[in-house]
Amino acid sequence: MGNLLSVVVSVYNEEAVLRQFYREVKKVLETAKWDYELLFVNDGSTDGSLCILQELADRDAHVKIIGFSRNFGHEAAMIAGIDYSIGDGIICMDADLQHPPECILEIIDRFEKGFEVINMVRTKNESAGWFKNMASSAFYKLINVLSDVKFESNASDFFAVSRRVADVLKDSYREKVRFLRGYVQNVGFAKTTIAYEAGVRAAGESKYSIRKLFQFSVNTIVCFSNLPLKLGIYAGVMAALLGVVVMVYTLFTRGGAPSGYATIVVLNCFMFAILFVIVGIMGEYMAILFAELKDRPIYIVGETRNISCELQEGKSLKRTGGTGRTGKIEG
Ligand code: UDP
Ligand code: MG
Repeated sequence: MGNLLSVVVSVYNEEAVLRQFYREVKKVLETAKWDYELLFVNDGSTDGSLCILQELADRDAHVKIIGFSRNFGHEAAMIAGIDYSIGDGIICMDADLQHPPECILEIIDRFEKGFEVINMVRTKNESAGWFKNMASSAFYKLINVLSDVKFESNASDFFAVSRRVADVLKDSYREKVRFLRGYVQNVGFAKTTIAYEAGVRAAGESKYSIRKLFQFSVNTIVCFSNLPLKLGIYAGVMAALLGVVVMVYTLFTRGGAPSGYATIVVLNCFMFAILFVIVGIMGEYMAILFAELKDRPIYIVGETRNISCELQEGKSLKRTGGTGRTGKIEG
């Protein structure tokens, strides 16, 4: 059919697994009906990843490299890959072979059937451990309660989108603090899911710490829900009701003088706790507002390989400039 598939792979210190990844993906892509480009986004790796990628790019014209000037994070890498892709269908996947390359064939099938958003849903995640798995399912329950937007639980950073959807992601959805998976699930268009089993990481180690995941969860809730902001109103109403009850009680018992010290202390602590939590929540929203206002780039491209010139010229002005809106929150 002469269709082109773009496979976007984010790479951060993956020297241990890159060659194996390339071999296995290549094997699958060679049997696919579509022509392909393999877009590696080097997210500021500090190991030999870039050297390996350059070597692959020299040998194989299908391999393209977008090199960031420093580490910008996994999401920024996927966004850059989508921005630079020229395919009719785009697949985002990890470099550690946790996302089975065989699925690519199935994805192409679905594209041909007319689906435009293909969510890969993992049925099991062996490597993540019970804590990560539990935290992840709790997180999805919470966000689905808090947000109007509905999220597929167990959705992963493995997904595929059509050119049309990629253009939507490229032109809109340029928030600094973001949840790409969430956008992908909520742009609409013909959607489908494919189940897959997340295997163990082929080599190297996970780059996501619990702390990072926690920050990520907070950001996502703040991005997709305004409900926490209303907590102040609910807390205020509750406190007022409590005040009325205490007032009525005091009037009826004629305020039996100095006893009630413990009540005062407990109430004070309780009220202040609520107050500070609310101030903290407002702080989170403000931090995100501030990040959007600063409009720093989502990513900065240092060098590229095998990327066509027009694409680069258009980008280099747009992507690193203030209007290019590319970036992630610092710190
Ligand atoms: N990654 C990235 N930038 C980062 C961290 C990770 O590009 O700052 C890439 C990493 O190379 C891998 C993918 O994102 O291809 C997923 O990372 P990882 O396997 O460490 O996460 P996990 O599968 O443990 O959630
Ligand atoms: Mg992984």
